Amino acid sequence: MSDLRDLYQETIFDHYRQPRNFGRLQGANRRAEGYNPLCGDKVTLYLRVEDGVICNARFEGSGCAISTASASLMTENLKGKREEEALQLFDKFHGMVTGSTMTNDLGKLAVLAGVTEFPQRVKCATLAWHTMKAALQNIGEPVTTE
Ligand code: ZN
Repeated sequence: MSDLRDLYQETIFDHYRQPRNFGRLQGANRRAEGYNPLCGDKVTLYLRVEDGVICNARFEGSGCAISTASASLMTENLKGKREEEALQLFDKFHGMVTGSTMTNDLGKLAVLAGVTEFPQRVKCATLAWHTMKAALQNIGEPVTTE
């Protein structure tokens, strides 16, 4: 298992060092902010939704390796998804990192499954996802994991 674990961590650190889709999104029509006071992670998520499809997703913010990698991997995954597919993905991802459901169809997102062993990091991993849900549901209030 140790080799596999090293690989997972490599992917997480890769996305931390070089976050994909990082920066403000011009033309965004959904936006939400999230904050995880436990760790100090902050994220602002921008989405461009057309006819129920997420055409583009970007994020800004600062946080730990887990929260940044999760936001980076999430934005990669959201592009081209319908809103309801994105919300289904939220449920699957949340289930995986909280250990409540087993899923094996999350692709690259599975690198974050290791956080189930670190309950205090689950909020780091899910912050961007809660923010995505808020953006889709157009909740104006900043999201907090507390
Ligand atoms: Zn964190």
